[in-house]
Amino acid sequence: MPNRQTVHNRKIYQLRHAIEADLSDAIYQELRWLWRQLYPEIRQMRLKRDNIQKLNFNKQGIKNDLWELFNQRLTDAMDAAIMAGAIQLAGETDRHWNSLGFDFTLDPVQIVESFRTSIGTQITEITGKAREEIGQHIADWYNTPAATVQSLSDTLRGYVSESRAHSIATTEVTNLNGAVTTQTGIVLGVETYFWNSMRDEIVCRKPLTGPDNKIWNGCRALHGQEFNLRTEPFKAAHTNCRCGPILRVRR
Ligand SMILES: [Zn+2]
Repeated sequence: MPNRQTVHNRKIYQLRHAIEADLSDAIYQELRWLWRQLYPEIRQMRLKRDNIQKLNFNKQGIKNDLWELFNQRLTDAMDAAIMAGAIQLAGETDRHWNSLGFDFTLDPVQIVESFRTSIGTQITEITGKAREEIGQHIADWYNTPAATVQSLSDTLRGYVSESRAHSIATTEVTNLNGAVTTQTGIVLGVETYFWNSMRDEIVCRKPLTGPDNKIWNGCRALHGQEFNLRTEPFKAAHTNCRCGPILRVRR
């Protein structure tokens, strides 16, 4: 019979997967929306190409309004999915610790607030990067008379792919789960946490900056290391990081 901690860890693992799938769908829908707005503009540019020698992308390219609207839509969609996930993770966490005799209720709103800046930064990066890369591709295409609309469309489709949506979702669910565990540790009065990787063959080994600001050889090297919950807070170590903090409670 597995112990309560194992059952809880397994449940959290399953919840993370389910939340990740929902968040990924929400992001993908918005990327698809962006594509539907872009496509007619791209077709129009082909008509313009015959008349205009060189593209001044800022003037002829995709309007600011579209990026602002995309940014807002993506923020709303991600907020909703992350909040739904926070409620589920907090609920399971409450249930587990309450069953062990610790009386507390986590506040999902406070948890989401605690990493809202990181969600905001992530969205700004996604929008900024997409804008820059898509802009560059369109400009290159525009200045290559032999390139077809089809070839441009194929290139740009990569920017609105499911895999892109999925990697954003993985990173944010790792941060969400980290925020839930951090909040739990604070409520329990725990001072440290252990870095826990997925321990499979795809755990990264590339050098990265750890929560202590030191360089580590990937999440593989971080695995099992102990950090201070408040001064070395857990967050995704890189895009697609699937790690999490583990609390050790002494009673
Ligand atoms: Zn990791």
